Amino acid sequence: MNKIKENFYFLKTFGCQMSNLDSKYIQLLLNKMSFETKQIEKADIIVFNTCSIREASENKLLNLFSYISKMKEYNKDIFVAVLGCFVEKINYKFIQKHSYIDCFISPDYLHFLPYAFKRFHLKKKNYQLVYKHFKNNIHKNTIKKNFDFLEDIFLRNKIRTVKKKPREYIRIMKGCNKFCTYCVVPYTRGLEICRPIERIILEIKHAIYFGSQEIVLLGQSVNHYYYRGVNFYKLLYIISNIIPKHIRVKFLTSYPKNIIYPLLTLIQQKSCLSKYLHIPAQSGSNTILKKMNRCYTREEYLDIIDIAYAKNPGISIAGDMIVGFPDESTKDFQCSIALVKYVKYQHLFISQYSPRPNTISYLYYQDNVSKSIKRARHNYMFKIQQNIMSQYNSSFVAQILEGFVWKAYNTSVSKKLKEILLVKTDANKIIFVFDEKKLLGSKVRVRILQSSSSKIFGFVVK
Ligand code: SF4
Repeated sequence: MNKIKENFYFLKTFGCQMSNLDSKYIQLLLNKMSFETKQIEKADIIVFNTCSIREASENKLLNLFSYISKMKEYNKDIFVAVLGCFVEKINYKFIQKHSYIDCFISPDYLHFLPYAFKRFHLKKKNYQLVYKHFKNNIHKNTIKKNFDFLEDIFLRNKIRTVKKKPREYIRIMKGCNKFCTYCVVPYTRGLEICRPIERIILEIKHAIYFGSQEIVLLGQSVNHYYYRGVNFYKLLYIISNIIPKHIRVKFLTSYPKNIIYPLLTLIQQKSCLSKYLHIPAQSGSNTILKKMNRCYTREEYLDIIDIAYAKNPGISIAGDMIVGFPDESTKDFQCSIALVKYVKYQHLFISQYSPRPNTISYLYYQDNVSKSIKRARHNYMFKIQQNIMSQYNSSFVAQILEGFVWKAYNTSVSKKLKEILLVKTDANKIIFVFDEKKLLGSKVRVRILQSSSSKIFGFVVK
């Protein structure tokens, strides 16, 4: 077996919250293998954890490949692994073309990484290892086993990893059954599989024990959770009855059609539930929503928003919008703009449509909105949203808001023990204050002094 000179790894993550969470597993696996993080030039293991949702993430990854192939020319002992969603969509030809990559692992098989590395060092360097679901070979029980196994590894390791973190992401389900026509998730992460409630609770208790103040429940369509008679409403109800009052629980991302009204009431009633809903509309036009297979109409979406605001007047609503979807006319786009103005999102993620290989829209629709129109629509919507944010943020000036001190940034005046602190309110608003670091993790009242479209500034009222 070749001697490993240095125990260093380099890990780069592309993409969404799910990929970031997967990277935590990967880090744990690498730490268990006694590897420490280092810059790419000094690493013995280079890992790319990928995402396929947006074309931009994929392009960034592909741009790095030529650099990696040159690195491998000089040092064949470096182990290069590409992990994540991207692996589910590559074919044999791609794998052959990129022969300097030693292994490809899709999200359901991340725990094979140590094994792949071992094989690489058993002089099997001329092999490329591939762990992915092959067509006609997807067996739900196998995937489920792997998924449980992965979460178990994480739980077991976490119990030994005592790291105080203000926020903890906890995955309650994976995959998606919705098949929106533009989205790769059902193909790359598979169909929905929900985690048993007792494991979720165990992970929450563990996070709180080690100092987390905010728990974020994650799922592609989080409010579609269902495990042995427990739906998402019941899950939230149970969680809100067992956690201490000062803890906040947030959940991402909600599918509009699966928002049930009792859930909005529960958010109102339980102080531990963050007054924040991430509920993407994607378009304001019924024609486009239908083409996207979003399974709700503009009117149904707005009904949910109306009720959410009526029940929780201070609630923050976040959303996602796609501009330039196939056949999106000026009228369709104007419907989206009108919806954005009506909802008054406090956060809006706008993306320009790009066809993702093997999705319905890629296979059957024409990408017939030009790049320049997509860009212009994106910029226009962005401007509208900036104005909404400016007005919304300025409405807090002179008010007192409550929140917990979430993060501290060092400043040049840190000798005086003053830092820039980030205070997070129940409605997920971030306020910048200048105060002492010792306030970190505590609940404070903040008088708002000033605001812009993206930031709110204030001072702690003592
Ligand atoms: S709900 Fe639609 S957009 Fe969201 S992950 Fe599922 S298929 Fe993709």
